[in-house]
Amino acid sequence: VLVVSEQGEAIGVDLGGQSLKLAMVDAAGRVYLHRHTPLDAGRPVEEITALVVQAIAGLQADAKREGLVPRCVGMVMPGYMDRDRTRLLFAANLPTLNGGGFLAGLRQAVNVPMVFDADSNAAAYAEYRFGAGRGIERLIVVAIGTGIGAGVMIGGAILRIWNHIAGSLGHVIVDPRGRRCPCGARGCVETVASGPALERLAAELADRYPDSSLAAWRTKAGRLTGIEIAAALAEQDAAAAEAVRECGWWLGVAIASWAVIYRPHKVVIGGGIAALGEPLLEAIRAGLTDVGQPSCTADLAIEPARLGPDAGLIGAAALAREETCM
Ligand SMILES: [Zn+2]
Repeated sequence: VLVVSEQGEAIGVDLGGQSLKLAMVDAAGRVYLHRHTPLDAGRPVEEITALVVQAIAGLQADAKREGLVPRCVGMVMPGYMDRDRTRLLFAANLPTLNGGGFLAGLRQAVNVPMVFDADSNAAAYAEYRFGAGRGIERLIVVAIGTGIGAGVMIGGAILRIWNHIAGSLGHVIVDPRGRRCPCGARGCVETVASGPALERLAAELADRYPDSSLAAWRTKAGRLTGIEIAAALAEQDAAAAEAVRECGWWLGVAIASWAVIYRPHKVVIGGGIAALGEPLLEAIRAGLTDVGQPSCTADLAIEPARLGPDAGLIGAAALAREETCM
């Protein structure tokens, strides 16, 4: 059933390192006419530009058939932008787009106003407007995936300290004698609590406990990703539980540091790895209370995200609507 409101439709676009997702989003944050295209992030900027422009035109045509005329487009991606958000300065997962005229070229080729932002900001804005962070005065929304991204909302506004983001929260150092991070620092929370960190730890535990469900799932699937770890966890496997406990605990340690800076009332946990659910949240809370400043962390709520993988494009459309005065 297509749910279509009378006004306020905007197009939300989420450009990631592996896929391009877009949809119509109405003023209540409802998503319809979803499109999803795989993306080879190594392609030249001209090809990626053409892909995005074609996808938007296709969605506009779909919308027209439903009697809808989206009046703006919000597009989000990982990385950060210059002062007036007209240039993408750096996106680790989209190397050919860095520093050039990608955003300006898109704006020229698309026939309605276009607004750009960081995906972490858009997800935070979406959870604040429509999801688990509704009305929260000081809110952090985390996405655990290939890396750890986070957006910060203060009094309903996106916190933009540097290059339009609140800071590189995934690179807060939690283990100074730990692993070197690709960013050049040592012991960033990304090195111990991201998706790849969880997979690495799970592989070590599967080696150590060959009779575990974790080891059995690795044999069956030929790999050990979040899906297999979740399956082993559902079978009450002790090795899987240990992997989740360890990674979650480290994220809790990072949140304890974020908490003394931003004083959040709530931290919302999203991203692919968040599908591990309550065991992960429990581990995060344990890390937070084990090391955090009690006066700052005692009332800090840790809750799951509500909007799932569409949070970025929902926030993108809402930001576009707001910034183009619809
Ligand atoms: Zn780092």
